[in-house]
Amino acid sequence: MGNDVRELDDPVDVIVVGSGAGGLATAVAAAAMGLSVRVLEKEAFFGGTTAYSGGVLWIPCHRKDPSIKDSIEAARTYMLHEAGDHFDSARVDAFLRSGPEMIEFFERNSSLEFVSVPEFSDYHPNAPGAMPGDDRYLLPLTMHVNSDNLPTDSVHP
Ligand SMILES: Cc1cc2nc3c(=O)[nH]c(=O)nc-3n(C[C@H](O)[C@H](O)[C@H](O)COP(=O)(O)OP(=O)(O)OC[C@H]3O[C@@H](n4cnc5c(N)ncnc54)[C@H](O)[C@@H]3O)c2cc1C
Repeated sequence: MGNDVRELDDPVDVIVVGSGAGGLATAVAAAAMGLSVRVLEKEAFFGGTTAYSGGVLWIPCHRKDPSIKDSIEAARTYMLHEAGDHFDSARVDAFLRSGPEMIEFFERNSSLEFVSVPEFSDYHPNAPGAMPGDDRYLLPLTMHVNSDNLPTDSVHP
């Protein structure tokens, strides 16, 4: 671990540590609220584990397809069954309430666009509350990121 301590030359409202989905989602949300943001990344490239991931989101009751017949109660039942002793009621309710809002927020405030993932059922489709179809899965459409358009210090720290 190095001792490369550098002072930020300009003050910002929010400093985000880490450039995976969690960090960049926070950065976009803060910027959308009019706050200035700096993302700090310890690696030479941004993206973290997220950059390796399949990028599939599990968002019950997302509003991308009005024909889907899902319910918060069914999704909660499924999560209770899957999580067992690890079920955290407050977190689950926050996730189920905020997931659809989150999709709409990022489609409104970023270049992301989400689509359904065909032929992808819940991992345990026979469990209580499960959906046998692809109704809870979303995938972001591929986008081209041109690193030439990013500030140099955002690509190579
Ligand atoms: C092969 C694979 C496939 C996956 N597929 C899926 C999927 O389809 N759907 C799904 O939901 N999940 C999937 N996952 C899991 C998912 O990728 C992770 O849960 C998610 O990416 C975690 O995001 P994060 O922002 O919390 O962390 P990360 O993406 O790991 O980001 C953390 C970042 O913080 C940086 N960092 C850490 N400490 C510091 C520090 N002190 N200073 C500065 N920077 C720091 C790290 O370098 C990293 O860039 C998959 C995982 C793998 C490995």
